[in-house]
Formats: sequence, C-alpha cells, structure tokens
Amino acid sequence: MRVAVFSAKSYVRQFLDAANVEHRHELVYLEPILDCGTVPLAAGYPAVSAFVHDRLDRAVLERLADGGTQLVALRSAGFNNVDLDAASELRITVTHVPAYSPYAIAEHTVGLILTLNRGIHRAFARVRDRNFALGGLLGFDLHGRTVGIVGTGAIGSSLARILAGFGCKLLAYDVKENPECVRLGVRYVHLNELLAASDIISLHCPLTPETYHLIDAEALARVKPGVMLINTSRGALIDTQAVIDALKDGRVGFLGLDVYEEEDGLFSEDLSNEIVQDDVFMRLLTFPNVIVTAHQAYFTSDALRNIAEETLENISAFERGERSGNEVGLEQIRA
Ligand code: NAD
Repeated sequence: MRVAVFSAKSYVRQFLDAANVEHRHELVYLEPILDCGTVPLAAGYPAVSAFVHDRLDRAVLERLADGGTQLVALRSAGFNNVDLDAASELRITVTHVPAYSPYAIAEHTVGLILTLNRGIHRAFARVRDRNFALGGLLGFDLHGRTVGIVGTGAIGSSLARILAGFGCKLLAYDVKENPECVRLGVRYVHLNELLAASDIISLHCPLTPETYHLIDAEALARVKPGVMLINTSRGALIDTQAVIDALKDGRVGFLGLDVYEEEDGLFSEDLSNEIVQDDVFMRLLTFPNVIVTAHQAYFTSDALRNIAEETLENISAFERGERSGNEVGLEQIRA
C-alpha cells in the first residue's frame, strides 16, 4: 500500500524500513508534522501514518478524505490528536498501537521519580563543577511511601509492578479496576482520597474531555504538601498555570513531566538557537524541583521496533480488508 508517513524522523525510518522487509508497503517519508499546511502532501495516498504531534482535526481529515485517504495508521497508543467523530463521518479508519511497550513508559516514569527525589540531575552538574556539597539533595526512601496511580491500564499496571518491588504502598483511581493490580495489593480509591493520601501521584489515563485538566487548582488544593507529581501521559491532564502556582507556594514539591499541554511545535524539535515564546513553559524550567523531558518516555529500541511492526501489520490488515483489532472508534473514548 502507498503510505505517506508524517513526522518521519531518521529513527522512525530506520525501524519502519526494517519492519517493511516483510510487509513491502511503499513508504514515502515526510519530515514535517501533518497539519493544515502540510496535508496537501498526502493527496493521492490511500494510507497516512501519523504520530502524537500530527494534528488530525476535522479540517485535516476532510482534506485527507478529499485526497483519497481511507486509513490513518497512528504510530502511538494515544489518539487524542484525532477527531474521531470526523474520521467516522468521513469513513476514514483510524488504527493505533496499544501497549507497544508499557515498560518503556513505566520505566521512564520511575526514572523521573528517582531523579527528582535524589536530585541526580543537580548532582551531575555539581560534581562536574567540582562542587561536592550535598545541600539541597536530601531525598526520601521510596520504601513505605504511598504512590497514587491514576489510570491502571497497560502502563499504570506496569508501574504498579515496579513500585511494588520498591516496597511502596499503592493507591489507584480508574474508571475500572484492573484485577492484576488488585492482586498486587493496589487499593482503588476515589480520586480525592488518592490526591490527599499520596506522596507521589503519577498520571496514566488517556486525555479525554473527562480527564482534561484533571489536575487543576481544585485538585491541587487537596494534595499532601510537597507532593511529587509525575505526568508521562498527556500534557493537558494538568492545568500548567495551576501547577506553577502550586510549585511557587510549595504544595507541589517535585514535578516530573514528559508531556506538556502546549508541546506541539516545541517537543521533538531542536530549538537551541531559537527564542522560545511560551512564557508558561519557560517559567516551568526555572524551578530546581522540576524536570521536563520532551515526550521521550516511549523512546526505546524495543518500543520503536514494536511500533513499526504493529503499524505495518495494521496497514497490511486494512489492505487485506480485515480488521487488525487496533481500530479506534468513538466507542473507545466513550467507554
Ligand atoms: P490503557 O488504555 O491501557 O490504560 C488507560 C487506563 O486509563 C485504563 O485503565 C482506563 O480505564 C483508564 N481511564 C480512562 N478514562 C479514565 C478516567 N476518566 N479516569 C481515570 N482513569 C481512566 O493505556 P496505556 O497504554 O496505559 O496508556 C495510557 C496513556 O499513556 C495513553 O493514553 C497515552 O496518552 C500515554 N502514553 C504516553 C507515552 C509517552 O511516551 N509519554 C507513550 C505511550 C502512551
């Protein structure tokens, strides 16, 4: 099948080319993100492959449909960047790659927790400057601390398994209980109880209209003073301005982000020679107790291999007129 592959960085091409030896699709790599300006590049392609920063809103999907596109094969698990109402009306099938490596994201989450707790990012810079003082690096044992996990699907449950090994007490909030987490000893509670009782809160639910700004000023008024907040899911789960206010008055003691609500156009790009215009984001970077990584939690060779293989399998299934089982429809976000 002819596929226009957007956001095709070199590492994306490397893994797709390797997986395509088996599938033999005609992959045309396009470096830019897919949006209103670049959608003409997809004209005539029956399939388009997109990633998290591609904007598949109604206008873009209409242009894709006009150009003959019938399949959008996402290379991500999340699909909040696709207007599924519009895709369904336009009869465009959308596939995603669920659970390509929940370990990658869970392990990065633990990396953020450990780095923030022990100040490893600050220690690295200090020691290189021959500053061997320990002031400001005081951490706490994870053993015995309470971690609240919001969303216990593939990633949240993988995190629960790791943190159970650290000896953490685990609370969870989800719209449905995961029996594996219950077996691990995770206690499901209401969101307000999780907010009030957790030393660390980690977000792993999808971004939907219900979870937009789940962590807002009201939620932050309920947390334990000095809580550690981690978000490796989607940026808009957190009201960034509200979290900045909470960092300033100490209600949030540590913040670890792999995602940011206005990350489109920022993350995945080298802007080291540019003036970043987003003052809210730049304020975040001034806090010593904040770490931001640029949506890299998924970025392991294992995950990229699985993403490439499953994306191409989704396209092959569509070409054969079969369902891959990875189609995303409105029923999934409304479930
Ligand atoms: P999943 O579907 O396996 O699990 C999501 C869980 O969230 C489910 O248990 C679901 O019941 C729960 N949930 C849904 N709505 C909820 C709500 N309103 N309140 C509480 N819980 C709710 O998904 P996953 O594979 O674990 O991925 C979770 C999210 O992680 C994805 O949606 C994506 O946004 C994000 N993600 C980030 C990266 C990264 O690189 N940073 C990579 C992959 C996925």
